[in-house]
Amino acid sequence: PSSYEVLFPHGPVRAAVVEAKKLEMDVAARFKPRSRPPEDGDEARPRLKKWKGVRWKRLRFLVTIQKGGAKRDGEKEIAEFIDKLGTTLRPEKVPRDLRKCCFCHEEGDGATDGPARLLNLDLDLWVHLNCALWSTEVYETQGGALINVEVALHRGLLTKCSLCQKTGATNSCNRIRCPSVYHFACAIRAKCMFFKDKTMLCPLHKLKGPCEQELSSFTVFRRVYIERDEVKQIASIIQRGERLHMFRVGGLVFHAIGQLLPHQMADFHSVTALYPVGYEATRIYWSLRTNNRRCCYRCTICENNGRPEFVVQVIEQGLEDLVFSDSSPQ
Ligand SMILES: [Zn+2]
Ligand SMILES: [Zn+2]
Ligand SMILES: [Zn+2]
Repeated sequence: PSSYEVLFPHGPVRAAVVEAKKLEMDVAARFKPRSRPPEDGDEARPRLKKWKGVRWKRLRFLVTIQKGGAKRDGEKEIAEFIDKLGTTLRPEKVPRDLRKCCFCHEEGDGATDGPARLLNLDLDLWVHLNCALWSTEVYETQGGALINVEVALHRGLLTKCSLCQKTGATNSCNRIRCPSVYHFACAIRAKCMFFKDKTMLCPLHKLKGPCEQELSSFTVFRRVYIERDEVKQIASIIQRGERLHMFRVGGLVFHAIGQLLPHQMADFHSVTALYPVGYEATRIYWSLRTNNRRCCYRCTICENNGRPEFVVQVIEQGLEDLVFSDSSPQ
C-alpha cells in the first residue's frame, strides 16, 4: 500500500469535511446502483467492473494545526458546520449588553487583558475597570477602592483622545507638558508604553529600549471597586418617579414607592408603617394553589373612600389571577 501525505492548512475541520464527503460518496456508491431503474443496470455493470481488482490505497492524513488566526477561522468553521447539521441545540443568544462605558463609550464588558469588566458608578453609569484605573488622576486604596473616578470623568467630558478624537480621554502621557491624552484602549492601539507604577508614555516619548518597569498585562486579579452611596442611588430612583428602574431585595421587587398627599396623612399610616397610595411591589413566594411551586404576588396600596385599601394579586402561570383586597394589611 502506498502512502499519501495530505496537508490541511486549516486544521482538523477540513479533514472532518473531507471525511464527511468520503462518507457521502461511500453511501452513494452503496445505494445508487440499487435505486436505479432496471434499464440502467446494463450500463452500470461495466462501470462497476472498472473498479474490479483495484487495491485499496491507504491514505495517511497528516493534519497540521496552525496557531492564531487560523485557529479562530477553524472555530468559526466548526460553528457553521454545527449550524448546518442542525442536530445540536444551542442556547438562545444573550441579549445585547447596553451598558456603556462613560470613558471610552464602548458597550458591554471589555476583554480582561483590555478595558476589563464594567464597574457601576451610579444609576445607569458604568466605567470599564481599566478605563477608570488608567485615568491619570485615579488612584487605588489598599482595599481596592478607586478614588477620583468622578474627577477623571469630569475632565474627560472636555478632553479629546489623541487617536480617535472622541471625548472621554483621561489617560495622559506622563512627560511634563506633553498634551497627548488617550482612551485606555486607544493608548494600547497607539502603542503607548505602560508602566507598573500606573504611568504611561505616548509613542513620541516612550523609552527606546526595553524597561524592567514596563507592564506587560492589564489583567487585574485583585479586588477593585468604586465606592457608591447606595442609599442615595435608591433615593434617586424613587425621586425620579419613572418606572424604568426597580430594586430588588431577595424575592421582593419594589416597582413604585407611591405617595401620600397632605389630606391622606391622617389615615394612611399605622404606628409602625406608612401606607403610600400607589405603592407596588412583587414578591415571589410559594403558591397557595399548587404544591412545591412558586408564583408571583403583586401587592399594591390604593385609596378607597378616603381609606387605604390593600390589594394582593396572585399571578401564576397557567392559572387565572386571584385578587384579594382588604382595608387592613394583615
Ligand atoms: Zn471604557
Ligand atoms: Zn480614543
Ligand atoms: Zn508624550
